[in-house]
Amino acid sequence: MQPVAASPRRETFLQYRVERRSQRDRRLRRNPNVTDLSTLMSSDAHIDSRSSTHTASGIEPVDRIFREEAVVRITDVSMRYSGSEWALSNVDLDIAEGEFVSIVGPSGCGKSTLLKLISGLELPSAGHVAVRGRRVDRPLSGIGFMFQRDALLPWATVAENIEVGLECGGYPKSQFDSRIDELLGLTGLQRFRNAFPRQLSGGMRQRVALARILAYAPDIYLMDEPFGALDAQTKVVMGQELMTIWSRAAHKSVVFVTHDIEEAVSLSDRVVVMGGRPGRIRTEYRIDLERPRDAREVRRQPRFHRYVDAIWNDIMSENLGGGAEPAASAVMGTH
Ligand code: ADP
Repeated sequence: MQPVAASPRRETFLQYRVERRSQRDRRLRRNPNVTDLSTLMSSDAHIDSRSSTHTASGIEPVDRIFREEAVVRITDVSMRYSGSEWALSNVDLDIAEGEFVSIVGPSGCGKSTLLKLISGLELPSAGHVAVRGRRVDRPLSGIGFMFQRDALLPWATVAENIEVGLECGGYPKSQFDSRIDELLGLTGLQRFRNAFPRQLSGGMRQRVALARILAYAPDIYLMDEPFGALDAQTKVVMGQELMTIWSRAAHKSVVFVTHDIEEAVSLSDRVVVMGGRPGRIRTEYRIDLERPRDAREVRRQPRFHRYVDAIWNDIMSENLGGGAEPAASAVMGTH
């Protein structure tokens, strides 16, 4: 798919961006780990959906991937919370069986809303969401939701927290102990079986949260910045562990929201770039990097950086196109 031509207005912003980009490149050379969008303010820009303005990286976005066998199908969905502006507008997205899809985009563009719509925690104002061919009209079972905050029971031990997942998953009580052992092994928590959440680091608490979801054995994993509160190194380690666990869990479908473009590229089969407001899908990239992936090794590949760069450019063009210059400088100048 070829990107749409840049409008004259956008060209001005592109010139600005070229200058700013060289500053960013210098900054990235100093600190190559800075690809986190969490400082990026949301934009009021309205840009044609699934348009890209920049392909200097040689990486092209793909057309909408429509799959007959989609596990999740989001069709022309718009969403407006009561008394608020439109949060999402005309979103189409298919997630295939076993696919790992990340969603990136500035704060407020509707990423979490999309997850809530898939899970049935919210219902769309227009359009529809279907999971395995059935319209989602109430909160679904069979969905594992993981948040940035671990939501563990503070008064329960690690094992007891995992038990909650087993109970929800309908496991027979007689199998609890062996299954807990298995999950503690999978998440590297064997020594912490009887520890309480307050005794664990942030990374370890997220491992418990992951173990609890695995205990539940959901069909679809919805992950809303699960590692967003962790330091950069722990985040990479957790990403690696998630990859390992995901491959052992027979590659269940995952929808993973993150502000971190590197994290998205390193984990995903596909990265969906959103913009807003209202939130819409701008571009999708199929991530053609061999699996299994090693979290550190994959970051050394030139192609990895070309994906990161292409996605960065899409997001920055939206912000610059919307006149959100302060947001751009916040990203480029403060790290
Ligand atoms: P993101 O996850 O990309 O940061 P969200 O999905 O959280 O974005 O929010 C998208 C938009 O919807 C924002 O403008 C946000 O303020 C609004 N929004 C989200 N949740 C609610 C809610 N429960 N009630 C009203 N507005 C909401």
